[in-house]
Amino acid sequence: MAILKTEAVILSIMPQGETSKIVRTFTKDYGRISFIAKGSRKLKNRFGGSLDQLNHVKIIYYDKENRDLQIATQCDIINSFPDLKSDLEKLSFGFAIVEVIVSLVVEEETNAHLFDLLIKTLNVLENSDKNYDNIYWYFLIRFLRQGGFGLSLGDCLRCSRKIENETAFFSIAEGGLICNSCSDAKTFYFKIAADTLQIIRIIEKKEPEKFQNLRISQNTKRDLNKLFDDYFRYHFEGYDAPQAVKLLMT
Ligand SMILES: [Zn+2]
Repeated sequence: MAILKTEAVILSIMPQGETSKIVRTFTKDYGRISFIAKGSRKLKNRFGGSLDQLNHVKIIYYDKENRDLQIATQCDIINSFPDLKSDLEKLSFGFAIVEVIVSLVVEEETNAHLFDLLIKTLNVLENSDKNYDNIYWYFLIRFLRQGGFGLSLGDCLRCSRKIENETAFFSIAEGGLICNSCSDAKTFYFKIAADTLQIIRIIEKKEPEKFQNLRISQNTKRDLNKLFDDYFRYHFEGYDAPQAVKLLMT
């Protein structure tokens, strides 16, 4: 048994027995890990207020191989995202992002880059005051890129013609654009309007501070949601759009 220390984001918390909690996390160094925090439901306990969903924490624990629940001994807050948690809309996007991690990241598969992306996205949400959906799409696009499913939004996949901000066809299966002349009636394409293509290119290339003020029309939002929904469903078995997003976007 080893004592390990890592940064983590708390994905969910469940009571366990009279006095303890089960804490599911995504850690920077060891992937998704579940802990038992013994005694953490007692009024006075060593975990203080650190155990709250979405908190970015530093956790110390006893690690034993082949055990479902590791034993947490200490947990300290790095960031509890107070602004994010006091705004219902921001919070919904925070939960949606966590839902993507829970449903698509395999347990104990280490991915420090994804962890950094998660922390960055939560920090941007915490500090922003508008257009939270842009930040959510930013997360999805980067998530796809890291998983090897990045969107190819430059040239036509068939003839390499540069596709400007024009109506184009997106092949869900191949993850890229097909120009007007190369599209054929037999294949299913997602038709992307010029506006939608332009927005998605900006979010794909730039950092959040550059598109924070970008206002997106309702039509384009619907388009983007449908596109991501179709794309995730095709490439990730069993995927379902996060509840929080379904509520916000309908
Ligand atoms: Zn073409």
